[in-house]
Amino acid sequence: MTAKLIDGKAIAAKIREAVASFVPDFHSRTGRAPGLATILVGEDPASAVYVRSKNRATAEAGMAGFAHNLPDTTAESELLQLVSDLNADDRVDGILVQLPLPRHIDATRVIEAIDPAKDVDGFHPVNAGRLAAGLPALVPCTPYGCLYLLNQELGTVGGLNAVVIGRSNIVGKPMAQLLLAESATVTIAHSRTQDLPDVVRRADVVVAAVGKPEMVRGDWIKPGATVIDVGINRLPSHDGKGRLVGDVAFDEAVSVAGAITPVPGGVGPMTIACLLRNTVVAAHRRAGFEDPEGL
Ligand code: NAP
Repeated sequence: MTAKLIDGKAIAAKIREAVASFVPDFHSRTGRAPGLATILVGEDPASAVYVRSKNRATAEAGMAGFAHNLPDTTAESELLQLVSDLNADDRVDGILVQLPLPRHIDATRVIEAIDPAKDVDGFHPVNAGRLAAGLPALVPCTPYGCLYLLNQELGTVGGLNAVVIGRSNIVGKPMAQLLLAESATVTIAHSRTQDLPDVVRRADVVVAAVGKPEMVRGDWIKPGATVIDVGINRLPSHDGKGRLVGDVAFDEAVSVAGAITPVPGGVGPMTIACLLRNTVVAAHRRAGFEDPEGL
């Protein structure tokens, strides 16, 4: 069997189009476009690339972007002051602080300083708690994107056995909460899980968010399972540019799974699309409007 490839790039492009289609109406009702503020501290090249892509996508969707690029010598108090200013700025609906932050800054303190109504990354404990309690929340972009792909592929995950490998606050835990909310039977695996291959073999849906290149082998996958590979790992390549691989051994898994996301071009593009989606949703909620339909 050869698995169907789940085209995250194409699905993300549709979400971005849908997001953009809500901007003119929001503008005519409020006199302004939804706004996203990004904060980048320091010069980590990967972070700089991510933030540039987010700023570009914001502009392409017709939304207002407020980019703050700060030196890595920025004091935690200065960053907290900027977050506080953005919380008070009515043009800003979403605040994204790119992680990781330099070591001298406490990321938890910064995330907790963001107004939960503007927390478009969904990392604030209020949003994490609301998600866990089954209340409306701003949900972390990457797991939201994974669930979107699963729903597109399967219609519903209700009743399926889902295994999430990884329990980070950014991906694994919110992913498991989203799957549970959709009535999947969810197992969360992590570095202390015993006999992981056997646990994964029981899964109809596998979400790998580990950060270990090609750790999940083809013979761990139940035939016909749907595999979502969140991992982004750069390995050396002959041309010196490096090549990206996921947490799943794609060449093996593709002949066993029913459907699988490629790396790149699977989950990656969904993250930015869902960030734009969260910003438009946050803008509507802050303005007291109904959530944009179908987003
Ligand atoms: P993380 O915070 O490092 O968490 C990794 C998780 O994997 C931890 O829960 C860890 O378990 C678990 N783990 C580590 N080794 C394991 C093993 N041998 N067996 C089973 N579980 C193991 O990473 P993250 O932020 O969640 O990111 C995970 C991956 O997704 C990375 O490759 C990252 O680059 C990628 N990512 C991609 C996107 C995107 O847009 N596509 C967004 C975010 C992240 P313990 O808790 O026990 O340590």
